[in-house]
Amino acid sequence: MGRRVHVIGAGLAGLAAAVQLQRRGAQVVLHEAAAQAGGRCRSWYDHTLGTTIDSGNHVLFSGNHAALAYLRAIGAADQLEGPAQPEFAFADLKTRAHWSVRPTPGRLPWWIFDPAARVPNSNPGDYLSLVPLLFARPGRTVAQTVQCDGVVWERLLRPLLRTVLNVEPREASAEMTAGFVRETLLAGGAACRTLTARHGLSSAFVDPALRLLQHGGAAIRLDSRLDDIVFSERGRVSGLRFADEHIELEPGAGVVLTTPPHIAQKLVPGMQAPNRFTTRLTVHFAVEPPFGVPPLTGLLNGTAEWLMAFDGHLSVTVNDAGRLIEQSHEALAEQIWAEVAQVVNLPLAPMPAWLVVPEVQAGFAPLPDQEMRRPGTRTRWNNLMLAGDWTATGLPATLEGAIRSGQKAADTLLNEPMERR
Ligand SMILES: Cc1cc2nc3c(=O)[nH]c(=O)nc-3n(C[C@H](O)[C@H](O)[C@H](O)COP(=O)(O)OP(=O)(O)OC[C@H]3O[C@@H](n4cnc5c(N)ncnc54)[C@H](O)[C@@H]3O)c2cc1C
Repeated sequence: MGRRVHVIGAGLAGLAAAVQLQRRGAQVVLHEAAAQAGGRCRSWYDHTLGTTIDSGNHVLFSGNHAALAYLRAIGAADQLEGPAQPEFAFADLKTRAHWSVRPTPGRLPWWIFDPAARVPNSNPGDYLSLVPLLFARPGRTVAQTVQCDGVVWERLLRPLLRTVLNVEPREASAEMTAGFVRETLLAGGAACRTLTARHGLSSAFVDPALRLLQHGGAAIRLDSRLDDIVFSERGRVSGLRFADEHIELEPGAGVVLTTPPHIAQKLVPGMQAPNRFTTRLTVHFAVEPPFGVPPLTGLLNGTAEWLMAFDGHLSVTVNDAGRLIEQSHEALAEQIWAEVAQVVNLPLAPMPAWLVVPEVQAGFAPLPDQEMRRPGTRTRWNNLMLAGDWTATGLPATLEGAIRSGQKAADTLLNEPMERR
């Protein structure tokens, strides 16, 4: 029988940790406070819209190796779809211009020499502006590292980075931004294909993982909130307290804690964690996308920032949306529908059935001072590891970061010599 490991939280960090632990022979017990798994990355059937919607529009890049490996491990690699060739479609709501940027697949960026593939009105030299990011220094912002203006910045980099970082990119940590850019834009077009979950986030990232875990004998406990961790004087966790249960940890047993940072901080004494968060808004419209609408379109000069087309509905993302949180949902839906209708050529009235989903803590703010607050995987206690998109992954709050942190926590725990756990 393998060592027992309790994974706390069944978001993507927790699921990735659980899958990795089970693959390596551990006996997994997965505890999730909510009634369902997936955390910030899940789907549900919405009766108003009459369709299944996601908790937020999620995009992966083909350079997100850990996320793709996780999907292969749970047998769900076929759940993602995206263009065969890398392509970013954009529309400017003010000028009504549409354009696409088409990076060539290889590492050498031949596309910047092709006016039909690069940003309209840009020159090859404009793309060199990204290079200083490769030498990003801790504590610096993007604006202190690269030039944040010009046509390539405004029409490609800023909209792309806003959706990855969920803050104004100029103010973001150059190091975290570099973490993303190094593995995507600077890794060549083959790493830049955008991928979305064809039947929703839960069908791709959550349900297959739960099935695999259950099949392998893991115990999955939903509605199971960890209230307290019991620490022994011998530098290890000795127990876990839930509302209706106290679990004593046997020698060799371990814990991977993947709750959001404000909860982890209450559970783990003396731990630093990010303490600034950013908001994202998702607005869904129950309308069939007209033929030819790309799966993903970046929108400039409006409130809506990214438009995603699914079977049966259109969904819009507004990043760094704290400024809109007090606005009435109806007014927001109307404002955003006007933009969407213009871009996809649909009538303004009647507005289709809609739903605004605000996520006030969509992720920690990837600012330089927050980078310093991210803890590593290990803690002072040999059998307690941390994971989550907010831990020190080098990446902003993304699925790739969450999955990588979960896998690392699982490996670190199992590589720890038995007598130290
Ligand atoms: C609207 C939106 C859009 C996004 N878009 C993208 C995107 O396009 N691309 C991308 O890569 N990323 C995107 N992200 C980020 C991505 O969703 C997150 O980085 C990722 O889901 C975080 O996973 P996690 O496991 O670290 O945290 P979470 O998903 O927050 O999981 C933590 C889990 O712990 C549980 N929990 C909390 N307290 C307890 C307790 N005491 N006991 C037991 N369980 C507990 C919670 O219920 C939750 O299920 C987006 C996020 C949002 C909100």
